[in-house]
Amino acid sequence: MKKEIPYKIYLEESEMPKAWLNLRAFMDKKPAPLLDGETLKPITLEKLSNVFCEELARQELDDESKFIEIPEEVRNFYKMYRPAPLVRAYCLEKALDTPAKIYYKFEGNNTSGSHKLNSAIAQAYYAKKQGLKGVTTETGAGQWGTALSMACSYFGLDCKVFMVKCSYEQKPFRREVMRTYGADVTPSPSMTTEVGKKINEEFPGTTGSLGCAISEAVEAATSRDGYRYVLGSVLNQVLLHQSVIGLETKTALDKYGVKADIIIGCAGGGSNLGGLIAPFMVEKMQGVRDYQIIAVEPSSCPTLTRGVYAYDYCDTGKVCPLAKMYTLGSGYIPAASHAGGLRYHGMTTTLSELKDQGLMEARSVLQTEVFKTAQTFARVEGILPAPESAHAIKVAVDEALKCKETGEEKTIVFGLTGTGYFDMMSYQKFNDGVMKDYVPTDEEIEKAIAKLPKF
Ligand SMILES: *Cc1c(COP(=O)(O)O)cnc(C)c1O
Repeated sequence: MKKEIPYKIYLEESEMPKAWLNLRAFMDKKPAPLLDGETLKPITLEKLSNVFCEELARQELDDESKFIEIPEEVRNFYKMYRPAPLVRAYCLEKALDTPAKIYYKFEGNNTSGSHKLNSAIAQAYYAKKQGLKGVTTETGAGQWGTALSMACSYFGLDCKVFMVKCSYEQKPFRREVMRTYGADVTPSPSMTTEVGKKINEEFPGTTGSLGCAISEAVEAATSRDGYRYVLGSVLNQVLLHQSVIGLETKTALDKYGVKADIIIGCAGGGSNLGGLIAPFMVEKMQGVRDYQIIAVEPSSCPTLTRGVYAYDYCDTGKVCPLAKMYTLGSGYIPAASHAGGLRYHGMTTTLSELKDQGLMEARSVLQTEVFKTAQTFARVEGILPAPESAHAIKVAVDEALKCKETGEEKTIVFGLTGTGYFDMMSYQKFNDGVMKDYVPTDEEIEKAIAKLPKF
């Protein structure tokens, strides 16, 4: 007899993963290497270690080790908020009147409110182990900055955060959470770095972008002794750390004999999705089981659906290495959308390559539609989702409604990356009926893409 599946599947502490899964190591055709912006040759560990902590730089370049052990200190921290529950969305299924079974992996059970803490704690740990004084970073919507502030205070590290200006203004409470945890928060572009000054000159009045903030944070780290730069998305190391999401999800499903058909996640830089799909993609590549995997992005920043697959800079200031990825051009500054965490011009190299190989698909959705779904979800499932996460809910709902038409009983799993308690200005706009959609024209996109580096 099949075990009764609980409303929320909580794993035992002992069932938490002891190693991260390095998805790239399982790929026959690997993502293209990161290139050094100066030499245009694959970047060396030595060069990368000037910017990143050494162990993290090593992880960044490692496409051979299939599993990398999670240090005990990091696992002990994980225990404070993990394992994260895998929830059966019975009430949503009922509201949609669908034969589909819907599950979501909920990553909002920690103060920072998102999955970003999974990588923040790992990165802070390696920085501390290297004997650094502190780290610098950027934050868009504020989730990464908050997570990193928590992680740095845990390990006693200094934390300097460059926060995209529009978020700094829209989300004063996020800023205060970071300051409460001891971080120093500066709106970006600022006048405290050379690159910030340059961007302010070139685009007066700009509300900033993740790309700009990254450039500033890198400069702040490399111009100080005892500091390194850390990044909360896009990088291989971040996907690696986020594989705890997918590993736990797989263990929970396997425990109850549930087989997923469709796996959905929102994609900004691609870290939560890369982490969620990791063990499932391995099975797909090995021919063990086929899964339909869908990345969801905002129509206002349609990297995977309308960008090109090419080498580009990871940041507006062109100080980071070049990556071969789906991109809208590092000069593309997306419209100020209400899902700040999805406002990035590029996409992590692993997901870009998987998309290019046809192993993953992508869809873009309008933010008003996303908020409509978020509202439905909040009303029936109780959780008030982050606008980013609601992108995944939107496509999960679309797929569940398709099942209603066809009568198929598919099992849908999506990543609920966080809560939206700090996004109430956005919810207010939606509730007041004044939220607008923004879809860039082909011309705008072509213009940004035309500026891609050529070599
Ligand atoms: C940052 C963030 C995202 C997007 O980042 P990825 O690296 O693409 O996962 C999604 N959801 C939430 C709640 C976030 O904070």
